Formats: sequence, structure tokens, C-alpha cells
Amino acid sequence: MSMIHKTATEMAQALADKSITAVELTKQHLDRIAAVDGDVHAFLHVDTEGALAQAAESDAKRAAGETRSVLEGIPLALKDVLTQKGVPTTCGSKMLEGWRPPYDSTVVSKLKNAGVVILGKTNMDEFAMGSSTENSAYGPTHNPWALDRIPGGSGGGSAAALAAFEAPLAIGTDTGGSIRQPAAVTGTVGVKPTYGGVSRFGLVAFSSSLDQAGPCARTVLDTALLHEAIAGYDERDSTSINAPVPNVVAAAKRQEVKGMKIGVIKELMGDGFQKGVLDSFKQSLDLLQEQGAEIVEVSCPSFDYGIAAYYLIAPSEASSNLARFDSMRYGIRVGDDGQRGAEEVMSATREVGFGKEVKRRIILGTYALSSGYYDAYYGSAQKVRTLIKRDFESAFNLADVLVSPSTPTTAFKIGERANDPLAMYLADITTIPVNMAGIGGMSLPSGLSADDGLPVGFQIMSPAMQDDRMYRVGGTLEAALNDKLGKPVWAQAPELVVK
Ligand code: GLN
Repeated sequence: MSMIHKTATEMAQALADKSITAVELTKQHLDRIAAVDGDVHAFLHVDTEGALAQAAESDAKRAAGETRSVLEGIPLALKDVLTQKGVPTTCGSKMLEGWRPPYDSTVVSKLKNAGVVILGKTNMDEFAMGSSTENSAYGPTHNPWALDRIPGGSGGGSAAALAAFEAPLAIGTDTGGSIRQPAAVTGTVGVKPTYGGVSRFGLVAFSSSLDQAGPCARTVLDTALLHEAIAGYDERDSTSINAPVPNVVAAAKRQEVKGMKIGVIKELMGDGFQKGVLDSFKQSLDLLQEQGAEIVEVSCPSFDYGIAAYYLIAPSEASSNLARFDSMRYGIRVGDDGQRGAEEVMSATREVGFGKEVKRRIILGTYALSSGYYDAYYGSAQKVRTLIKRDFESAFNLADVLVSPSTPTTAFKIGERANDPLAMYLADITTIPVNMAGIGGMSLPSGLSADDGLPVGFQIMSPAMQDDRMYRVGGTLEAALNDKLGKPVWAQAPELVVK
């Protein structure tokens, strides 16, 4: 019997019971990918042979009584911005076409050590710059809820793979919302851990002071299990935090919020938010209140400047990080006819290798960092960042966790904002402050919007290295919502037509 519509926890139980093998489970997911990914396009590369070999190894380990973790034998989809030895890694860019990294990122080593089976690499906005996956050089991913809509970005491929039942677990990365916004618009769960909680070693850098890899799944508990598998100190990442991983799994199982204070951020629920999104958000607040939480209102006035500051800091760091794509070391080389000088080849390669949005950000960032402008732009943005941190500190004095809708709207149509970068950037208004402050953020489904029937995301934020708090609140809300709706949001997605 096919298990693809089950949770990772249920799959792990079936593997432990020996009612299925890891090879069978992997084949079921590979078959699903073959059947629906022509329409969804969540994957850039499916590693059929590698996945089956890992699954066979997993079965052998289990047979020998050497189960490596609770996730032993469970399939996963990996965002194409993390290196996996020998497997193509493009970051959604032509620049890295054909590059096969010679090493595993720490996240991948940890997944392998846990016995997780990596199915392949998922589609994304080029170098993680975008909110719709339309900036991928390899074509957009389609939202399984409505194929003419975006699955969010930059990690739209990972979120769509979960929503389309192509994988029960996925890895994303979140610089300004790229885990949480795709989770919100696909009815799945995604967590941006505390900055420094998960190693960045082998994560191709976009904006180093903001980038963070994190777990994605269909349920809060599955997300927690994956969080536990990938988190922890890594001496190869200088910003990694050397402290115990918060007990996110116990928190996800607790399903109780009595006496907790939940702070609603006033600035993140006003004008510009879709009615169905706000209604769904308020219903979730009521559910949490019924469960015994106290709801308070908090104010974070500097969040209004979050997007402006982010679009100086992130492009500035990107312009410096992306200088390494110089046609000499990685990926493609264009126009090297033996006559032209290095600078000309470099310029020809960057012209062809980078897409429009990446070029826009390199130009923006280079300008913001140029002498005479540095203090006015980058310097001011850093000051705003400090103000955002302080706003969070005061708000966390009044509440244990903070909440907001994960995104102002549900999934928009493919093409709708493609020529309007500002409209696209505004999709991140709710998620960016979390990255600026380096704290934890989760998006989980809060139901379907009454205006369009599409999934709505509920965002929970917790102080640095207190990631367990968002799992506690998320687990409680998820259980209460499942009771109310009769079945989970992700189980209500329209069944894709299998050709
Ligand atoms: N949408 C944001 C951007 O384009 C965030 C992307 C991300 O988190 N990687 O920068």
C-alpha cells in the first residue's frame, strides 16, 4: 500500500514495524515524482540511483540492528543551494550548471548520519533571491494547490514537493523568509531556526549574516524531528552557536499552552493584508486562547523599515559573496577563445550566467557599499537592524512567543508580480524582521482563506535559542485546528491528476 500521504512519523513507525522497507518507501516517492513532477516541477535533479543505494543501506543497517535515528530510511527533498558530494548543485542558476561539489554540506552529512534518504535537489529562485521561484533559471515551480500559482520562494521547490506528496521531509534556507513564505502558501510547515543553530557550512552564501538552513515537513512534529537531526554546533561555521540544541521534539509533542503569553505584533496585521488571511489568523488566535494561552498585543514600530533595510543589507552581502563566480573556479565559462583576457571572459560569463534579479541585486549592493555611500546606505540599514532587535527584546519582555500572519496574501498567480520587484519584495514584510534579529520563526497552516480557498500561514517567533517555544505553540495550534477541521490542512489539497 502506498504510504506517500502519511506523515514522516507514520512512515518511521511502518519502517520500525517492518511493514515496509526503506527501498519500497523510496520507490513509492520516486514513482510519485515521475507521475506529478512534470506538472509541479519541484525538482531540478532526481538522484534515483543515489537514493535507492541509500535506502538499501538503510534497510541493511536496520536488519543489523543499527538504526541510526528515528528518521532512518525516510526520504527527503534537498534545496539546491546546499552541497551534496557528487550531486549537481546549481542554486537555480545557469552559472553553476554542471557543477558537482566535491564535498557534503554539514546539513547533508548530518542527514546521511541519521540515515535519511536524499531523493534529489529542489528548485529555487536563483541564488535564493525571490519569493516565487520564478527567478529560477530552469523555469518556475507550480503550487500543487493551484498549478497556475506560485509556491512561494525562494524555496518553492521544497515546499511544493511536500504539498504534492513527493517527499515527507525537505530542507530549505531562509534569508528573509524563504522557508516560511513557501510553507505558508503551500499549506505546509517550515522553520527558520535561530541564526547559528544550524551550520551554514556548504550552504552557498547569499547574505551571510542572515542565511539559515532549516527543516520543512507537513506536520510540526515531523519538522521538529528533522530540526533535531540537522541542528547543533559546527566548528566549520564561525557563526555556529556552541550550545545544546533546544528540545524541539518534546516541545512539539507537548500540545499544551496553559499560562503562555502570546504577543500579537500590531504592525504585522494591518493595511495590505488579505481579508481571508486576517480572518484565518484571528481564528487561530481564538483557538490558542481556548487552549489556555493569554493573548496580548505588542508594538514593534521599527518593523516598518524592515524591508528597506533588508534590501540594502542582503544585496550588499550578496554583491560581495557572488564575486566568487568569476568563471575561473566554479561552473560555466563563456567566451574563453584563447585570445580574450581574464576580465573579458569574466564579464562575458557573468553576463550570461546570472539572471535579471541577481544582476539587479549585485548592482544595488555594489552601489550601497561604494565609498562615500557606505555609511548612508549600509550603515543606516545596520542601525535599523539594531532597532528591530530592540523591538523584539521589548516585545519578548511582554510575551513568550510573538505571532503574525506568515504572509500578507495567499499564493498569487505566476507572472502576476514578475515585472514589479517592489510588489514581490513586499511579500516578505512579515518574515524579514526575524532574520534581521537572528531569532527563530515558524510558519504552520492556520486553515484555508475564505476568499480563495488557498492555505494561510500562521507565523510564530521565539527568542534566540528558545526554538522549543515555537514548536510548543505550533504543536498545540496544529492539534486544535485538526480537531476543528476534521483533517489537517495539507490533507485537503486537491489531488493532482496523475498522467
Ligand atoms: N524573498 C526574499 C529575497 O528575495 C528572501 C529570500 C530568502 O529568504 N532567501 O531576498
